[in-house]
Amino acid sequence: MEVCYNANTIAGHLDVHSPVTTLTKENAPAFYEPDVQILTSGGLRIPVHASILVSASPVLENIIDRPRKHRSSEKVIPILGVPCGAVSSFVGFLYTSRCTEEEMEKYGIHLLALSHVYSVPQLKQRCTKGLGERLTIDNVVDVLQLARLCDAPDLYLRCMKLAASRFKAVEKTEGWKFLQDHDPWLELQILQFMDEAESRIKRTRRRRQEQGLYLQLSEAMECLEHICTEGCTSVGPYEVGPTKNRGPCSKFSTCQGLQLLIRHFATCKKRVNGGCLRCKRMWQLLRLHSSMCEQSDSCRVPLCRQFKLKAQQEKKGDDGRWRLLVKKVVSAKTISSLSQQKRKRMEESRGTVGDYSIRSFKL
Ligand SMILES: [Zn+2]
Ligand SMILES: [Zn+2]
Ligand SMILES: [Zn+2]
Repeated sequence: MEVCYNANTIAGHLDVHSPVTTLTKENAPAFYEPDVQILTSGGLRIPVHASILVSASPVLENIIDRPRKHRSSEKVIPILGVPCGAVSSFVGFLYTSRCTEEEMEKYGIHLLALSHVYSVPQLKQRCTKGLGERLTIDNVVDVLQLARLCDAPDLYLRCMKLAASRFKAVEKTEGWKFLQDHDPWLELQILQFMDEAESRIKRTRRRRQEQGLYLQLSEAMECLEHICTEGCTSVGPYEVGPTKNRGPCSKFSTCQGLQLLIRHFATCKKRVNGGCLRCKRMWQLLRLHSSMCEQSDSCRVPLCRQFKLKAQQEKKGDDGRWRLLVKKVVSAKTISSLSQQKRKRMEESRGTVGDYSIRSFKL
């Protein structure tokens, strides 16, 4: 078998990439006669043009520019250690800057190695993408090793993520067993990556839990104000009274608990000083309200003004942790109302699209 990049292939190449559209022997004589041969492991010789190799790869340029031993001898560049077909595809890429999906499927890992050794960044990019799309449990360890050797960080990270997320299955592959025997450093790196990924997940979960807690507190604050100003089902201000006939409000699950707590607080004999935990909780909710409340005299929430006065008197001995709690509850509310607004906007925009389509349907 002999692969030859003849004048037609090159002319096609030139049509796309060069202002010289008509190829004649006068304007591009060098393209007609291959002046270098590439020798592959299978003994295949591929006749190529030095000018193409030189423009595509600085490493091949160095090899070609090296002085020859005998002036008359023809230049032969051996590319050994990879299948003949991979070398053909590599040379094809140097000519056309293209590589088919079939070639990628068959020779992707070899092409990545060649692109690295011969410094062809375009091909490396193509292989990073192509191999990334073809990652499987079975090949991920091999590709990972190669990505590290060939300095392909995007592919390396993609492999790491897959290996970490499917580790139980990856651990059973031949690739992993080979790695354990031959490359303990890489094994350690994968395990470290997994460890970091796990603690990242834990951190996010903890943050979400905290956020949920602050959000609950913020909702309790809203309900407290609502109970103390409008009144809910069983507790309300004297002049309004409970609104049993109005039915439960929109945040009734929180409101209900809070109403029970308020009724308890009003009737408990032990109270806070007697060590009643429920009363203590109510006390803290009232204090939290007062710290967040921006109404001065008009606020109807019990003890709001008293707490404010006390806080003013004790300004210097202010509790940093308490202030942090207030800040977090306020920001939890802001975050949740922002995401609600976003959801509402999305629903609205969906609604508009719906209206529009109905209207256009009528027309
Ligand atoms: Zn309510
Ligand atoms: Zn109590
Ligand atoms: Zn208040």
